[in-house]
Amino acid sequence: MGKTEFKAESKRLLDLMINSIYSQREVFLRELISNASDAIDKIYYKALTDEKLNFNQDNYYIKVDPNKDKRTLTITDTGIGMTKEELENNLGTIAKSGSLSFKNENEIKDGHDIIGQFGVGFYAAFMVADIVTVISKALDSDQAYKWESQGSDGYTIEPVDKGDVGTEIILKIKENTDEESYDEFLEEFRLKEIIKKYSDFIRYPIKMDVTER
Ligand code: ADP
Ligand code: MG
Repeated sequence: MGKTEFKAESKRLLDLMINSIYSQREVFLRELISNASDAIDKIYYKALTDEKLNFNQDNYYIKVDPNKDKRTLTITDTGIGMTKEELENNLGTIAKSGSLSFKNENEIKDGHDIIGQFGVGFYAAFMVADIVTVISKALDSDQAYKWESQGSDGYTIEPVDKGDVGTEIILKIKENTDEESYDEFLEEFRLKEIIKKYSDFIRYPIKMDVTER
């Protein structure tokens, strides 16, 4: 006789999980920058052994781009990107840590790193965003894809145009409520502070356009 699986309300489970693992919402940025850095590591190592890939340090960077008018925060990387299948497998499976073994080999352990090992890093984005859009073009792939999700109720994937290999993650930052404000995640100075606090060790440049005043 087969076992019956427990039913779980995935939205409540996701909220519970994210909010109990992360004590502070601001760490979503650390998780996304760490994923971006991992993706650049992968293309970087490939470039070292593949002569067809033109190795140039300037090609590898992460960009953080807040837009107050659109209420979006975009994190762009020039990493290895994801195919349609990778978008489905890597972002569609909660608590599956793809880079766990990669991390174990390459990173110095500290107390914070345990979080990444749960494989929920990417989902931390839903602490501050109500829609997450991932536009990605994988190396050796002609077609780019857009993955989009409002969290627990699943995701959509469709082909889109994107010239460069890499990934763009667009967070539609939550509206403020009576109790909570999310505006800080659209402020350049605040984002810089968070980057300095958690991502200072990242070995690729983290760029941000500075608004002229
Ligand atoms: P982990 O980093 O521990 O594997 P995450 O939830 O942070 O778990 O990310 C899940 C997976 O999604 C990663 O392992 C990676 O394969 C993929 N991924 C996430 N962000 C990116 C990105 N910017 N570029 C390429 N792949 C990514
Ligand atoms: Mg991660």
